[in-house]
Amino acid sequence: MRNHENSADYPKKRVKACKENWEEMTLTLKDFQIEEVEVLNLNEEEIANAVARTYVAEQNIKAVIVLGITGPLLIKKLKKIFGIPFLSFDNVILSVVGRSPLARVVSIVSTFSEEKTLLTYKAIYEFIPNQIYVLNSKDIGEIPQLYRRGYHIIIPCSAELISELESLSNRLKGLKEASIENPLSYFKEEICSLNLAKGKPSTYKIERILPCIADSSKIRFIAQLDVNVEDLLPILYLHLKRSNYLEALDTLTFTTDKEEMITIYGNGRVCAGKVKDESRAKEILLELIDLLSKAYNYLSQHGSPPVEMLEARRKLNPNVVYNHLPKLNCGKCEEKSCFTFAIRLVSGEKKLSECKPLIEEEKYRKNREFLEKLFNPLL
Ligand code: SF4
Repeated sequence: MRNHENSADYPKKRVKACKENWEEMTLTLKDFQIEEVEVLNLNEEEIANAVARTYVAEQNIKAVIVLGITGPLLIKKLKKIFGIPFLSFDNVILSVVGRSPLARVVSIVSTFSEEKTLLTYKAIYEFIPNQIYVLNSKDIGEIPQLYRRGYHIIIPCSAELISELESLSNRLKGLKEASIENPLSYFKEEICSLNLAKGKPSTYKIERILPCIADSSKIRFIAQLDVNVEDLLPILYLHLKRSNYLEALDTLTFTTDKEEMITIYGNGRVCAGKVKDESRAKEILLELIDLLSKAYNYLSQHGSPPVEMLEARRKLNPNVVYNHLPKLNCGKCEEKSCFTFAIRLVSGEKKLSECKPLIEEEKYRKNREFLEKLFNPLL
């Protein structure tokens, strides 16, 4: 199913390529029934309706795979409507970037209209600025320049280009360490994880350990938890100071106090970069299981956090914090000014309790309560 331009034999060629890819997936995923829906030049509502037609006819659908570019927000919307996951090429791009923190990725799309569509979905760039470069297939010759700028992972982002993986790799010979990722293998992994039930995590499996792209003395790893943790991510977001939650992508990214960069996916996948070694990786995963278990207990007792709570967390910024500090610039917190203290509070380097006047003086009680709630909405 896809959404693209309408030149004479273009759709036919594309549908053929899609069909071949469906066939490949059908062979690998015998338990999954594959239905092909042709969608040309449709808006969001029409895409939803096209999916609905298949959905109604088929009772046991576990997921819908969109062989095209749609945008994470639409995918999330469809998931809400149908209650099943939707996987698309842009999920794959984000997944590859998430698995290789700090990697730079060139995503090749096959037409200008797709390039525009992808660029429209700004969430991708807000999430990982300067990590994704979208290239039209006509400009493949520019890859060597992009390679020099640090873009080493290349993802062909359409059914047509996937069927030309070999010729693409030939064109890129000589670019050491440049890897071409086949999005289909990511779809397969995602589909396998769909069988995981939601719950409290108890174990993990480290699937891959690779050199860290940002720091060659460190490693990055990919692991899988034993449950789906989608409902626990917003709770973790409220709890972790240096975190970013993207609801549309079902991902939570955070930085640890050792500056490791961790991404957790709703389907229980965990990817991390700048990690010292394998034993630290195991430590991180155990700490994560502990945190997620606490989030699970919170969810069982209080339910999902309200939208307003998440919005307040998103607004957490040094200005708001500063306006509720005593503004004495007394230095008791070992910072030069209340404003630097506010910045460090927001970044998680300082604790509210380090501002003695705020904690000890009754006249700041209201401000203190406001800030305590802002920083610990789950208390
Ligand atoms: S201790 Fe509180 S009042 Fe004093 S400088 Fe630090 S933040 Fe400002």
